[in-house]
Amino acid sequence: GYRARSAYKLRQIDDEVDLFDRGDTVVDLGAAPGGWLQIAAEEVTEAGRVVGVDLQRIDDLDHPHVETVRGDMTEERTRYYLRKALGVDPRPEESDGEPERPVDVVISDMAPNMTGEYQLDHARSIHLCRQAFDTALELLKPGGSFVVKVFDGPDLADFRDDVAEQFQYVRAYTPEASRKRSSERYLIARGRTDAPVREGQ
Ligand code: SAM
Repeated sequence: GYRARSAYKLRQIDDEVDLFDRGDTVVDLGAAPGGWLQIAAEEVTEAGRVVGVDLQRIDDLDHPHVETVRGDMTEERTRYYLRKALGVDPRPEESDGEPERPVDVVISDMAPNMTGEYQLDHARSIHLCRQAFDTALELLKPGGSFVVKVFDGPDLADFRDDVAEQFQYVRAYTPEASRKRSSERYLIARGRTDAPVREGQ
């Protein structure tokens, strides 16, 4: 069995778009209690690896190719430990070489503590999505994929446009298991583009 029902959402996303390949390196943000980690670990097999991050402690999984980092993704020190777990330069701002981008797939199921106040919950969700997006841009290989949970609302369209600029395509998807939480969506972005076109070029 899986540690969280949310595992079935990721299973459905993977069935829909064939997200993972054997051997992939995956980063899972908001990974506790570990349902998505279990799915990703199965899909990439021991030929790949998965690093999960959460504010909460994650009990060890039986998979030797899964590692976890405890921390807040909005804090630089957590991103430092994530880079270390991935074996890339943890202080890329201090080196002048090309940044290392070893990750094939970044998935984020991060969610704020819900207050029930729609505008506030939406704004906090978008904030976490943007954090995940920054991490995806920093670590994803060209061609890589990004999946992120978002609570629908007025700022979603702008966020989606920003993601679309950096990937070949982006689509919104609502897995069956999310249907009763009517505002929950997943954005699925594939094909991270190599050289982002800057304005004026
Ligand atoms: N995908 C997980 C699974 O299958 O087990 C369930 C994730 S749960 C819906 C959302 C998680 O996001 C919570 O465990 C929460 O602690 C985490 N989270 C929320 N804000 C975070 C942040 N700033 N940094 C890291 N994790 C965060």
